[in-house]
Amino acid sequence: MISEKMIPLVENNSVIRVMFEEGKRLAAIYGAENVYDFSLGNPNVPAPEEVKQSILEILEEEDPVIVHGYMSNAGYEDVREVIAQDLNQRFGTAFGDRNILMTVGAASGLNVILKTILNPGDEVVVFAPYFVEYGNYVTNYDGRLVVISPNTVDFQPNLQELEEKLTQNTKAVIINTPNNPSGVIYSEETLKHLSRILEEKSKAWGNPIVLISDEPYRELAYDGAVVPYVTKYYDNTVVCYSYSKSLSLPGERIGYLVIPDEMKDSREVFTAAAIANRVLGSVNAPSLMQRVIKRCIEKGASVNLKAYDKNRNRLYEGLKACGFSCIRPQGAFYLFVKSPEEDEKAFCDRASRHHLLLVPGSSFACPGYVRIAYCVSYEQIERAMPAFQALAEEYGIRPEK
Ligand code: PLP
Repeated sequence: MISEKMIPLVENNSVIRVMFEEGKRLAAIYGAENVYDFSLGNPNVPAPEEVKQSILEILEEEDPVIVHGYMSNAGYEDVREVIAQDLNQRFGTAFGDRNILMTVGAASGLNVILKTILNPGDEVVVFAPYFVEYGNYVTNYDGRLVVISPNTVDFQPNLQELEEKLTQNTKAVIINTPNNPSGVIYSEETLKHLSRILEEKSKAWGNPIVLISDEPYRELAYDGAVVPYVTKYYDNTVVCYSYSKSLSLPGERIGYLVIPDEMKDSREVFTAAAIANRVLGSVNAPSLMQRVIKRCIEKGASVNLKAYDKNRNRLYEGLKACGFSCIRPQGAFYLFVKSPEEDEKAFCDRASRHHLLLVPGSSFACPGYVRIAYCVSYEQIERAMPAFQALAEEYGIRPEK
């Protein structure tokens, strides 16, 4: 009954399903507190208090017909204007409501922009390691995913290989910074270099390549690290933002696209994207949440970064002390650890015998590594340290002197 396009999706789904089932099985035997699930990117830090306050205020103060009603497919103008002004203040941009399109989270934003720009056969370039859903989103519109191999020295994108793999059929390049799964922030130097390459190729071939900057982790940057605003470097940039992580609202499905004036055919792209939002079936982003976002920005709400930072430091230092090798993440809430054996899936299997649930890097097109999500309680990290230590001893690894 199901379509041919769905068959591989159903088969791949089983990998995640197996991990989920394994977690449940271990919890039933050993107790949930003795199972250390580091597999999910679901924020454990609660949404800031301003979210609840805003919901209550909206229900008390705003017209329910408007709050629960349809609006323009692009979202409420006043909400989009507040977002635009906030971005302008923080990043020196010049956006208005005309540039902001409210979406059902980043997942939907990516689908909206890909539907807006892709013709069948168009190529979309991604840098490994990358968020695995990109492949599915590109296939949704009969695009072709082109993967650039990982640069495991510092996990900045491999721009030399990008130059080799761009073709006349390249329609878009997706970047994700701060990055899931590596935690790396792409430097200004990287973005400038990337922009130069895309400008040159776009000019040579007469068809502009769209740079899609997927930024759900923008606000999760540690030690004062700067996350450069990508529209400043390359005109044909579309930013895909989400409040799933920045306000811990993943279930509420709220985010936006930025389509700058500098983009070629900006108005046409914006109109097409609003229609894509409609015909993909989202119609518009959730109304109540749009109104909540406006108030949260006005109240200056932000995520409790300190909690993630504390987890990051504890886990990073703890894993290094065990002898594991990984780069210190600058953003997001993931650590990308080198597997002590080549087959990282076998390593994940061994880890699960210590009740540690980790995601193999091959799920991000980067075998040989595993992802540890530290958006968990600090207590879970503390409790898991002896298990990591025992795992390290099993492999005979020790900290570097
Ligand atoms: N992009 C990346 C890199 C992600 O890690 C995620 C979610 O984990 C998404 C997009 C989707 O986020 P959203 O909940 O906003 O759809």
